[in-house]
Amino acid sequence: MNGYGGTILRVNLTTGKITREPTTPELARDYIGGRGFGIYFLTKEVPVHADPLGPENKLIISTGPLSGMLAPGGGKCDWTCKSPLTGGYADASMGGHFTAEMKYAGLDSIILEGRSSKPVYLFIDNEKVELLDASRLWGKGAIDTEVDLKKQYGESFQIAAIGPGGENQVLFACINHDYGRQAGRGGVGAVMGSKNLKAIALHGTGSVTVADPEAYRKAGMALYKACKDADNLKDWTRYGTTIVVSWCDEVGALPTRNFSAGSFEGGKTLYGPVMREQIVITDKGCFGCPCPCGKYSNLKRYGTQVEGPEYETIGMLGSDVGLSDIQDVAQANLLCDDLGIDSISAGGCIAWAMEAYEKGVLSKDDTDGLDLKFGNVDAVFATIRKIAAREGKLGALLSEGTKRAALKIGKGTQDYAIQIKGMEQSAYAIHNATAMLISYMTCDVGAHHNRAWAITYDLQVGRDKVVPEKVARVIWLQHFRPMFDVLGGCRLQWVELGIDRDLYVPLLEAMTGTRRTWEDLERTGERIWNLTRLYWMREVDGFGRSWDQPSPRFYTEPPATGATAGQITKPEDVQKLLDMYYEQRGWDSDGRPKHETLEKLNLMEFAV
Ligand code: SF4
Repeated sequence: MNGYGGTILRVNLTTGKITREPTTPELARDYIGGRGFGIYFLTKEVPVHADPLGPENKLIISTGPLSGMLAPGGGKCDWTCKSPLTGGYADASMGGHFTAEMKYAGLDSIILEGRSSKPVYLFIDNEKVELLDASRLWGKGAIDTEVDLKKQYGESFQIAAIGPGGENQVLFACINHDYGRQAGRGGVGAVMGSKNLKAIALHGTGSVTVADPEAYRKAGMALYKACKDADNLKDWTRYGTTIVVSWCDEVGALPTRNFSAGSFEGGKTLYGPVMREQIVITDKGCFGCPCPCGKYSNLKRYGTQVEGPEYETIGMLGSDVGLSDIQDVAQANLLCDDLGIDSISAGGCIAWAMEAYEKGVLSKDDTDGLDLKFGNVDAVFATIRKIAAREGKLGALLSEGTKRAALKIGKGTQDYAIQIKGMEQSAYAIHNATAMLISYMTCDVGAHHNRAWAITYDLQVGRDKVVPEKVARVIWLQHFRPMFDVLGGCRLQWVELGIDRDLYVPLLEAMTGTRRTWEDLERTGERIWNLTRLYWMREVDGFGRSWDQPSPRFYTEPPATGATAGQITKPEDVQKLLDMYYEQRGWDSDGRPKHETLEKLNLMEFAV
């Protein structure tokens, strides 16, 4: 199959059986790849109401047509499973070089199923696939595991590994790769840990056939040229995602002390230029990327090196927990990466606990003696370690995520658990930003920014406006942006460098032999979006409108300070936005896709 590896690899960890199936043209036509393949296999193969941490859940890793190809940012793969954090749909996109290697090993998806009786790692060297004993690796950090396996197999192998957080099935454990890239959100690392799978070591040397090699070369070079000619290539490469820290601080979007404000008085010390000057030693990119956003940093105070921090981690483990020194934030980032927990959720959990502690709801007895005040760096480090180990009262409480922790503690703490669908909100404060608010409320994995990053649109249109255009913009973004997770590529060349998205059309056609315009791709995006909604309805009894609600903080508690001081979205406007969203989607007033919508999208076979 042109543009594809051609094979789905199935690894049963219970029986040790390893099988291969061809990738079918029908699957490629209807779901394209990446998160499209993920939701297809999840829906078809994982039993209804499966325990997310039981052997019946599956972890599905998928590449897409752009993966490993002559496309800027063709270094992404998608990890899909039923989420132990939310109980619904999860996927996490991972950059680096794993996806290219997977494609060169001929693999479009790896489906991990069952549960091994002892710790193992998966070894793949082209056709050779084995499950090997991982007892010497169990307990090691994710980065140490990568170093260990690279020492054994050589630098040409790509490694994805969990840390102790994944082994201990922390509900927001992540998977680490390339010393600092993650499949981060939704607890994909906990699912890997539940299967007793410590790591994957992967090497591929095959080639991928393309339909029209000369057109492919020309289209690929045109994309690279557009990136090289972009006006802001230099700034983007210099600062990466940290370029937005100052902007967020200025407009009141920088999460500050558990999202109680959107501007941080210590914010300037976290800005991109400060970080670049103080700690960054080099840039780091994913496979084939001409605009590397990764920053490798040297932390003299701690004698350590880390990839990062990028914007989300600066927000969640910096301003949101009251830390203002970039070295401290970067060290917290390193701890999360090596211990294998998602830095966004970790920051959200710690910030929630800090607020509860400062309000006197959590005592020193609850925090295992830690003085859990905002800004206490030692307490932040200690809490990260406790979460990963599920150690003590505090580790046990926070390793389950803020939604469960707040339910357990009660006493009004649910009102400041900043999460939606059980996932901690990523790093944009939304006190008066209605497009970003509805984006978070309706995101199909929980409160995550990467589906529809709409906050700039709020500023453009008027942040308090409750108008159908905003909702339409969010819906369009929800189809368009995740399409890169379907195609196995990075969206940031379009988002940040502003390259013309139509340049991808001839490239995809030359690769696969099938012409798809962006309108075609967005239709597939809409189909996938509705399918993930059906998956939630299938898995969560009573799933609907009540699951699409934001934290009350954003409609009841105007920040006292900063750019959004005194501003919130009115509660009635929150519901008005949701009504508009459901109507435009063709869903009923409880957020359930109507029959005619499912018929239009050819999804009746999945109707719930
Ligand atoms: Fe990777 Fe960043 Fe390049 Fe995207 S822009 S491919 S995330 S290095």
